[in-house]
Amino acid sequence: MSPVVDLVLPPAEPWQEQARAARLTTADLLAHVGLKAADFAEGVIAQPDFPLSVPPHYLSLMRRGDPADPLLLQVLARGEEALPQPGRFTDPLEEADYRAAPGVLRKYRSRALLIASGACAIHCRYCFRRHTDYGAAMLTRSGEAEALALIADDAAIDEVILSGGDPLSLTDARLAALVAAIEVIPHVTTLRLHSRTVLAIPDRVTPALVDLLAGTRLNAVIVTHSNHEREISRDVAAALNRLRAAGVTLLNQSVLLAQVNDDAATIAAHCRRLFAAGVLPYYLHLTDPVDGAAHFDVDETRARGLETELRAALPGYLVPRIVREVPGEAAKTPLWALST
Ligand SMILES: *Cc1c(COP(=O)(O)O)cnc(C)c1O
Ligand code: SF4
Repeated sequence: MSPVVDLVLPPAEPWQEQARAARLTTADLLAHVGLKAADFAEGVIAQPDFPLSVPPHYLSLMRRGDPADPLLLQVLARGEEALPQPGRFTDPLEEADYRAAPGVLRKYRSRALLIASGACAIHCRYCFRRHTDYGAAMLTRSGEAEALALIADDAAIDEVILSGGDPLSLTDARLAALVAAIEVIPHVTTLRLHSRTVLAIPDRVTPALVDLLAGTRLNAVIVTHSNHEREISRDVAAALNRLRAAGVTLLNQSVLLAQVNDDAATIAAHCRRLFAAGVLPYYLHLTDPVDGAAHFDVDETRARGLETELRAALPGYLVPRIVREVPGEAAKTPLWALST
């Protein structure tokens, strides 16, 4: 008998197949929605540096033949990305300054953020981390001990945030190992995940993930990242429901994006839809000055007008906090405290 090892890999889970199928070209995306480059004011970029990634579920929610579709505009590389953009940066939040250990951002006393994964299922054109070199920024398996030691040595840290990239790009086994390592640190009470994958690939909310979050001693919070009511499909709502049934607190952060969600009726409808799915609106971020995304900016004056309209339209608990991240500040800065 030859000593051949039988290398039978487990079949990929449906969400992993969706993640794999997400890579597509600009031409593929346009063909899918039945549009041409000429339908966009500045055309499109055939091969952008930050490549396209749009999982099939998200793709299925787009309206065909509509160049103003708010889902399409978040993922299509439009020509505006290549226009000169003075005053924009590759690391607008100066995150490199807050690196406490490899893969750990320590900006605020009580919270440590782990860059758990450099990958995202969906690539958002406005992303402030679109230029991040995850090789240097990411939590690696070898750096993990150092990162956890840093948290264990500082009793002021009561919350660990898994972010990225998207922490739900990790496998359930890898997440379980990470959660087990965090759980044994006695002063950590809360585990938070920041994820857009829940919207882009609702199948990612696997039974194993739900069990992990239901079973941890940590108070589990998921902050989803959704920008438009049409992103909360029936499948997404069902996935959110499974998380809620597991006792996970669900919050949402959005980014205020020109042409996508920059009017009060659109935001109010989104907030109501989130609430119907068991999610409370948390933050509505003003865009960061990242190079290549100026065409998404909404100015502060307009944001103030939107805030006034939202407060009139929604119950107080559904009005998101409109904030900007100002490098060097002790927390995110609310709109009202920004000087203009
Ligand atoms: C936004 C952010 C947090 C979390 O801040 P909250 O206001 O608690 O949501 C933590 N760490 C970093 C690096 C952040 O950018
Ligand atoms: S999911 Fe978040 S981190 Fe990933 S590309 Fe989109 S905005 Fe950036």
